[in-house]
Amino acid sequence: MTAKVERQIYLLSPRELSPETIAVTFAKTSRSPHSFREIAEELTDEKSADFHEKWVVGYGHASVAEHAMLHLAFENISRLAIECIESNRLASYTEKSTRYQKWEPGGYQVPDEVVGTSHEGIYRETCDLLFDEYQRSLGEVRRVVQSMHPPREDESESRWDGRIRSRYVDVCRFLLPASALANVGMTVNARSLEHALGKMFSHPLAEVRQIGEAAKRVVQQEVPTLVKYADRRKHLVESRQEGRRLAHGLSSDGERTMLALVSSDGDAELRVLAAALYEHEPCSFETAMAHVRSLDDRGRSALVEALLGSMDKFDAPTRALEHAVYTIDGLMDQGAYFEVKRHRMMTQTAQRLTAELGYAVPRLITAAGVESSYRAAMHAAAQAYTQLAKWNEEVAAYVVPNGFNRRVLLTFNLREAFHFCELRSAENAHFSVRRVALRLAELIREAHPTLAGRMRMPEGITWQSIEAENFSQV
Ligand SMILES: Cc1cc2nc3c(=O)[nH]c(=O)nc-3n(C[C@H](O)[C@H](O)[C@H](O)COP(=O)(O)OP(=O)(O)OC[C@H]3O[C@@H](n4cnc5c(N)ncnc54)[C@H](O)[C@@H]3O)c2cc1C
Repeated sequence: MTAKVERQIYLLSPRELSPETIAVTFAKTSRSPHSFREIAEELTDEKSADFHEKWVVGYGHASVAEHAMLHLAFENISRLAIECIESNRLASYTEKSTRYQKWEPGGYQVPDEVVGTSHEGIYRETCDLLFDEYQRSLGEVRRVVQSMHPPREDESESRWDGRIRSRYVDVCRFLLPASALANVGMTVNARSLEHALGKMFSHPLAEVRQIGEAAKRVVQQEVPTLVKYADRRKHLVESRQEGRRLAHGLSSDGERTMLALVSSDGDAELRVLAAALYEHEPCSFETAMAHVRSLDDRGRSALVEALLGSMDKFDAPTRALEHAVYTIDGLMDQGAYFEVKRHRMMTQTAQRLTAELGYAVPRLITAAGVESSYRAAMHAAAQAYTQLAKWNEEVAAYVVPNGFNRRVLLTFNLREAFHFCELRSAENAHFSVRRVALRLAELIREAHPTLAGRMRMPEGITWQSIEAENFSQV
């Protein structure tokens, strides 16, 4: 007679077990016939540390560390430093929003590199000027927005402001420099965190390296072994330095196209459809592809309908769409880039933040009568950037406001394109990123109309209409 085996599903609670012990409990199921509960009961923090030292650190069974989850709170760090923290794909973030919160005067980072040097004066003056202009424009743009959106009957002042706040804050954020301080919460597993710390320790900015040191210190209270060996990665430092040396001389060519499709392949749609069939029968991929090629338009449409037709508003499309891949050369304001970079599934190669690619002027800045002081502040920031960059290009980026353009190379698949374009073209998205999402959808649809035509894009608006409505200059 066989023993009755009951299905068991339960949580290993982080309230009872440390992250390292949870990780070992799961790891041990690989060799142990015992239940997770039994394995956990046998463990102590010391035994778990010994296990990790042997298996994760010693034998390189690094995936075990993915079971140790951490929640890191970063407060008052610059938005420039946040870029490094948020550059890790396998982690989750929530940060202080430039859309729903306002920045107070003086809320910026003064990096150690400039403190006490001849550059400190211009650095502080520029950040103060940008913060002053930000404050001033908040009042002026708010007045215009109020006149466009008067209070509703019986609406309190604070409710009215809550309803219209993002409309004027969205515009004034173009003035905020990358030195502006923000908070960010990060949820990450110990394996990804070790990698993230390595990047921080190898970063050219002192602030980022200091944040890395502080993060490692606090994390070791919770996971003493798993990030113990996180350190500066010589390879990261040297490859950055060599890359920079070899790229020297590739100066700006004056090209200012918002998004250019660098590559996509002609067979991608067929490949997606063939992959969708391949899943269901034991044929080779070549046979599935030959079958799709033999279909007429009606046959292919029926296949597309079967794949995507039953999706409702909240369904993600099938993973078969990941077999179509695109590369885009993008130029967008730093505010839009800050939102685009959050799309972790994409591969993103961003250039350094500079003041060399022009800046955007929101239409409401013009309408509020503050365009000349806005331009003066942007001009001052560009001059300060140029002066500081002669000394240290990395540190100079701190004074560059959100309105300046940034270049980023994006590689992503069609499934991610659906997600990004649909989410970021929605009415509640910021107009800077809406413009990008609408143009991106247009490019992808031109390349692959059959599948990309199924993106659930808003009706009646285009990237040109968003641009015309919201920008005096891009
Ligand atoms: C209206 C709105 C307001 C926002 N406000 C803020 C804000 O105030 N502060 C802020 O920090 N951000 C804010 N965001 C950004 C938001 O939190 C996301 O980081 C951003 O939209 C990227 O989206 P994503 O995570 O879905 O995309 P991607 O990273 O592109 O991921 C694509 C998809 O992969 C899946 N996925 C990726 N990673 C994970 C994971 N770790 N776990 C589970 N599933 C995953 C999800 O299905 C996701 O939709 C806002 C976004 C919107 C649309």
